[in-house]
Amino acid sequence: MNMEDASRIDRLYRYSRQMLVPQVGREGQEKLLEARVGLVGCGALGSVIANHLVRSGIGLLRIADGDRVELHNLHRQMLYTEEDVRERLPKAEAAARHLRRANSEVVIEPVVQVIDEDSLGEFAADLDVLVDGTDNFATRFVINDYCVRRNRPWVYGGVIATTGMSMTIVPGEGPCLRCFLRELPSREQSPTADTAGVLSITVAIIASVEAGEVIKLLLQPEARNRGLLMVDVWELDFERLEIPRDPACPSCGSGLTGETPGLGVVAQ
Ligand SMILES: [Zn+2]
Repeated sequence: MNMEDASRIDRLYRYSRQMLVPQVGREGQEKLLEARVGLVGCGALGSVIANHLVRSGIGLLRIADGDRVELHNLHRQMLYTEEDVRERLPKAEAAARHLRRANSEVVIEPVVQVIDEDSLGEFAADLDVLVDGTDNFATRFVINDYCVRRNRPWVYGGVIATTGMSMTIVPGEGPCLRCFLRELPSREQSPTADTAGVLSITVAIIASVEAGEVIKLLLQPEARNRGLLMVDVWELDFERLEIPRDPACPSCGSGLTGETPGLGVVAQ
């Protein structure tokens, strides 16, 4: 065995229990180590998604978030600490600091910026998959339209109170987010954690599903979620709805306008 092989095996040791899972194996682990993933928003969902992906050993995680860590985040945003609140750290930077302590082998690129139509192109240009850690549909529409145009897979996830949803979008091979939700919902129609609250257990379930979908897209895309997963953690209801592709979809169908409607302020 030469030195290079020996150091490779050393590097893989931390993933030994993950590689025992047949769906991953050594070949899958090598693929993960080469993967480049973009996380848009690193609040509650993003904290859990980033933790899974970094500990699983993806090659690069680029994290965009324009907010700073606040005390009322800590009940559900699992990456952050009271120290981050005291230092008023930007979430992307605090996340990178904590994640590097968990796995120094992963390249972590914090981007302290709100993602919108103008900034997404540069953020996502060289990434394999995008994953949704946002809390609003305006940003999700931007991600969706970009991914449909660039033929890039992405994973949607959202939570509110005790309920959550997730959908995995592979452009050209199934519905996109706007096949299911054509128009941007108004603020009244789309409550957030700030208005309707959220439980950390809801977040952890949906974010874990999202991270799992990213891993499947990288290793075995045919195993992905092909419907809209709807979860209620209080009722312990898990349901998967079939979403048909809409031929008149404004993003992936004949209704293509090339514009994302209703975009003013994009808050994260
Ligand atoms: Zn569509």
